[in-house]
Amino acid sequence: MLIQFLQASHGDAIWISYHDDKAIPRNIIIDGGPTATYGEKDKKGKIAPGILSETINHIRNSGQKIDLLILTHVDNDHIQGLIAWFEDDLKATALIEKVWFNSGKLIFEYFKVPDIIDNHIQLSSADETDTAIKEGVTFEKVIKDAKIWDEKIIKQGCTIDLLDVSFKIISPDDDGLKALLHKWEKKSPESLTAGAKDYNTSLQDHIKTDKYDKDRSVHNGSSIAFVLTYKKKNMLFLADAHPDKAIGGLTHFEYTKEQPIVCEFVKVSHHGSKYNTNCELLELIDSPIYVISSDGSERSPYKQCLARLINAKKKLGIYFNYPELAEQIFTEDDFKEFPYLKIVPADYKFIIHE
Ligand SMILES: [Zn+2]
Repeated sequence: MLIQFLQASHGDAIWISYHDDKAIPRNIIIDGGPTATYGEKDKKGKIAPGILSETINHIRNSGQKIDLLILTHVDNDHIQGLIAWFEDDLKATALIEKVWFNSGKLIFEYFKVPDIIDNHIQLSSADETDTAIKEGVTFEKVIKDAKIWDEKIIKQGCTIDLLDVSFKIISPDDDGLKALLHKWEKKSPESLTAGAKDYNTSLQDHIKTDKYDKDRSVHNGSSIAFVLTYKKKNMLFLADAHPDKAIGGLTHFEYTKEQPIVCEFVKVSHHGSKYNTNCELLELIDSPIYVISSDGSERSPYKQCLARLINAKKKLGIYFNYPELAEQIFTEDDFKEFPYLKIVPADYKFIIHE
């Protein structure tokens, strides 16, 4: 199994490819990054392909499918690349076998509350003359009509076995879903502006002054996060989940401080935001590698989050899918003071062997 953390600027787009027990090639995509991950339009309206469209073309040209597409939550840095794909490519759904998506309608139905249409994800025509996709068509309708979405809530406590892998869902819980029972804001407030970076403070000083403050974004709190198990090896994908939800989920699956989950790597929550990783969560995890998926163009990653991680572990590797971030964040003194901290090389391949 090969896991690739595609360069999706400040967002997530993760491609997992492997062969199942019958040697059939399988592909799982988690999120699609912001629009540019699929492709940016030039002045003539022509799309210059991004890494997501290259990945999609590769899968299509190999005669394979996206066996599972997971939309962890509705924030732009996770969903816009997929919307751009659906708007650009009328055959998009033909490539997809199955979608996991806790849509607004689904959540409102689950709590038996009247739906708010504004929360549905609109697709607009890329080309005004293109009548196949008209305004008013939603992402939900497209995946429903294509019969690739079974409209089931994915939530904490479920174990889902498919494609010869297993998913233990650790987030969202009912509270995380319930928090979405209102009209959604178009953009989560935290990502509106890129604030000052905290990279000039040393790791030591961050550790000395560290204080955890929680993420208040309700969208992030609804993130689908899970343990993926392949050939008895675990991988932890935290999306932008809240730590209390992840702790609740890991505890549900009987992981404790004494017996933490042993995994190959962790996709650190919310691109390394200081609001989404706390010490209590880190105690439940035993992993050699922590993955930061961000180009640093928005606030995350925070050095404070990385300091918390480094302080909690005796030995660890941090992998940046934009490797230049490591030298922006850490100084020579940081490495001298924490010699057990290693930066995982940019060309490292996340390959899980049988
Ligand atoms: Zn995000």
